[in-house]
Amino acid sequence: MTSALLPVFQPAPMVFEHGEGVWLFTANGERYLDFGAGIAVNALGYSHPHLLDALERQSRKLWHLSNAYRIAETERLAERLTAASFADLAFFANSGAEANECAIKIARRHHDAHDRPERWRILTFQGAFHGRTLATMAAGGNRKYLNGFGPTVDGFDQCPLEDIAAVRACVGPQTAAIMIEPIQGEGGLRPVSHRFLRQLRELCDAHGLLLIFDEIQCGIGRTGTLFAHQQAGIAPDIMSLAKGLGGGFPISACLATRAAACGMMPGAHGSTFGGNPLAGAVANAVLDIVMEAPFLADIRSKGALLRSRLEEMAARYPDFIVQVRGHGLMLGLQTTRSAPEVVEALRTHARILTIAASDNVTRVLPPLIVTDEDIHLFAARCNETFAHLSRQPA
Ligand SMILES: *Cc1c(COP(=O)(O)O)cnc(C)c1O
Repeated sequence: MTSALLPVFQPAPMVFEHGEGVWLFTANGERYLDFGAGIAVNALGYSHPHLLDALERQSRKLWHLSNAYRIAETERLAERLTAASFADLAFFANSGAEANECAIKIARRHHDAHDRPERWRILTFQGAFHGRTLATMAAGGNRKYLNGFGPTVDGFDQCPLEDIAAVRACVGPQTAAIMIEPIQGEGGLRPVSHRFLRQLRELCDAHGLLLIFDEIQCGIGRTGTLFAHQQAGIAPDIMSLAKGLGGGFPISACLATRAAACGMMPGAHGSTFGGNPLAGAVANAVLDIVMEAPFLADIRSKGALLRSRLEEMAARYPDFIVQVRGHGLMLGLQTTRSAPEVVEALRTHARILTIAASDNVTRVLPPLIVTDEDIHLFAARCNETFAHLSRQPA
């Protein structure tokens, strides 16, 4: 198949025409159970009436204004996100990588404003993923993504996960901040222990460093609390959000405490499209649903059910499934086969959509509106596929 698209993706062959809840439909009527949710983006599934309503209403009023004017929807979104978190201030952009760029800039400016301009380096972690811009690729440190693009953006030092002594040894006179995903997504659905997150908080406090959480994938209810780090009982100084925030409409946010953002004044950062009225209206509609009880508690119980069904598969196919990982509805199966192979088998054999990650992990990220019934259907279809796969030689 030839295509005029830059060949950086290898899309599956079917073409989806519409979606409803957890289902995606092709033009010729095939339906797929979507347990990938566009990589944890379609938090409320497809065609959610409340999101459709918010988008349609706002589309008749204003799409874009520019940040030269006040934008009511976005101001309201900032108030709600800061009221629900550690943060005092929010900046809106259009993608995860841009939210992380903002986080990096806030951290560097913080130290500059405190007459410590030499502190501009950021510690990141092995297996991290922070985006595909030049700086966020460097933050992720994955050679596979960095190779061939010229000199790597300087200012990031990588440390091993879960080894606080090694992190302490990485902190130097130039260190400004520590940046981490509370649960690594692309890196293989690796939850970071709450103990390690607390140790990082203590280390940052002891050395005057800022703590940045990249909750682009794990935030907005995915793990059963509005933000994943809330389960560790500590808070960062800066946090990036994206994927689930717009429920499929592109919007990202960088949240910060007033103290962390002390170097950001008019002109220090910007975005043309960021925080436009359409994006703000849709993200507010996502929060209407996610923040209303018992939505988050339901995610925890549905996550427990999905996890127990995955554990059953792991017990049934021990030669094929190595481990079940994750929290809430952010789960993964580590297998002995490669993840792309597992994803393809589930798609072609069971019409189930999942997402590959590193470390032979197949991500299971259903829309947060998934029901127990959907989970049982998913499990039944997975079991058939895995029975089939485990009969075939690898
Ligand atoms: C997806 C993701 C990003 C990058 O988001 P984009 O919208 O693709 O720029 C950054 N960090 C994490 C943890 C992600 O999952």
